[in-house]
Amino acid sequence: MDREIAPAPLETSAQATWSDAASRDALQLIADGVTRVAGFGIAAISVVRGDPGYLEVMAVAGSDAAREELKGRHTPIEQLAQEIEKADDWGLLRFVPHERLEPGLGETWGWVPDVDPIDDAPDAWHPMDLLIAPLYDDSGRMRGTLAMDLPVDGRRPGEAQRAVLDAYAEQARQAVIVALERQALADQVRMAEAARRIVRKATAQLSLERIVADSREALIEGFRAAGMWLQTFDDVGGRGAIYSADGSVIELTPELVSIAETAARRAWEFQEASVVAPNVPFGEWLTDEQGEMILAYLGGIGIESILFTPLGAGPQCLGNLVLTRAFGAPDWSEAEATMALDIGHDLGRAILNARTFEREHQLVEELQELDAYKSQLIATVAHELKNPLTSVMGHLEMLESSPDLSGTTKGSLQVMDRGAKRMVRVIDDLLLLSKVGDPENRIIAAPVDLHRVVDDVIDLTMVAAQQKRLDLKIDVPDHAILALGDAEEIDRVCANLVSNAVKYTPADGSVSISVEVAGGEHPDQVVLTVADAGIGISQADLAHLGTEFFRSSNPAAVAQPGTGLGLAIVRRIVDRHHGRLEISSELGKGSTFRVFLPAA
Ligand code: ADP
Repeated sequence: MDREIAPAPLETSAQATWSDAASRDALQLIADGVTRVAGFGIAAISVVRGDPGYLEVMAVAGSDAAREELKGRHTPIEQLAQEIEKADDWGLLRFVPHERLEPGLGETWGWVPDVDPIDDAPDAWHPMDLLIAPLYDDSGRMRGTLAMDLPVDGRRPGEAQRAVLDAYAEQARQAVIVALERQALADQVRMAEAARRIVRKATAQLSLERIVADSREALIEGFRAAGMWLQTFDDVGGRGAIYSADGSVIELTPELVSIAETAARRAWEFQEASVVAPNVPFGEWLTDEQGEMILAYLGGIGIESILFTPLGAGPQCLGNLVLTRAFGAPDWSEAEATMALDIGHDLGRAILNARTFEREHQLVEELQELDAYKSQLIATVAHELKNPLTSVMGHLEMLESSPDLSGTTKGSLQVMDRGAKRMVRVIDDLLLLSKVGDPENRIIAAPVDLHRVVDDVIDLTMVAAQQKRLDLKIDVPDHAILALGDAEEIDRVCANLVSNAVKYTPADGSVSISVEVAGGEHPDQVVLTVADAGIGISQADLAHLGTEFFRSSNPAAVAQPGTGLGLAIVRRIVDRHHGRLEISSELGKGSTFRVFLPAA
């Protein structure tokens, strides 16, 4: 019978490797003490890991060969348990003399040095002897072992040596417990940190519902929680709802909602995430009565404890996050509370963003309503003015044609006639503006030949252009250039641009008009260009062009009659045709207006 050195290797552990150097050093010191002071050739300290439990060697003292052999080795706990059943009880130590080993049992446990017993005496150490201290925590759970071999004097230890070993076993016991606690803490921090990263990513979204949905799983896993709920102190979403691990929603009583709200505000003041659990004193922000009520409610839904975290930004508390653990789950650690508070800050900012977004959204809606109201008002007033004005004009016409008018009266009537005609133009522009700005009033698109449009507009503006001796350059191809849209509206675009070019170009200047297929990047568009060598537009004014009633600040432009509605109409018509208006201009040099429209 032989005890083999190498036990059957376990599957690779999913747990992180032991990374706490301070804990490792402490265990190493103890193992070294066992070899140097207690007189053993080799000592090893292992800790219990995993589920099902196995022993992982963490520190080895002794020969280099033994160290190489043992370090990092994994052994199922079960094997050790079988061996120590037969052991002598030496305080913390257990001794199994080789004579007690049954064939086939324990063959994979321990380390068998290649030596012979020193003599035939009953206390001679045998290479198959096993001396080990199982290390238990206060609740009686085995957490590790201290094992030794190769006594320097070749003898099984006597009373005095056992006492020394016992002291080392106690030290090892405490060191192993501390090391495992530190490891568990590090694991918790790592998991909670991973949760925080996911929550942070989720908070880039603007809807709180989405943020909660996307971070719920990470929070529950990272904090090993049974469930969670999130409450916000306004109607952005999530108020009073419990999002549990399986995604179902549990309603909180209004009383609990209000306790949680008050508690969260105080907890935010204290910058504290804290635990509500049986036998844990309630924080400063909860009365005993409230605490008991919460615990009773939680007990009723199978929850033993919660980690209560206020959410906020700056001085403002905006909600709370509650992570729950069922009965029998581990206690919440301080590291988890710290991490939860950090998450409270992340979620607080997200709530604030969601609110701002919501408010902006509302504002846009209000502005849109206001705009619709304004358009409606303009349309109504224009309509109401149009009818009496038509009648005024009819009567003016009648009066002007009566034979017995004095010269003064005739002159006055002509002035009135000009004024009334101008009013009609403004009213017509207002009515058109409201028509083309009304999303309900859709265009009925048909192919429109821009060639014909330009010809018609030239006919109308020819007289004005000639009066100023303008050089009108027309560049249109012989064939039709078809745009897709409303013929009347496209006519209006062209007329407004050409009449502006004529109006804002001093006498003897030039105006050019061209139409073509856009080509290049936009082969599916046609373009109408109206360019002039007129007064031009400053860069500052360019930014406002197309806004209703805007007229540029240039005195040369203000001197011309106008309302500031022409370009607003052009812009709206182009927009509703899904076209594009490009304006380039330089003060004193001239302007170019280019209208891109979908080709038919
Ligand atoms: P209106 O000509 O009735 O004032 P528009 O909306 O057609 O209104 O034009 C707005 C303003 O843009 C004009 O007041 C004028 O200052 C400027 N503008 C328009 N077209 C030209 C142009 N071709 N050259 C210089 N300025 C122009």
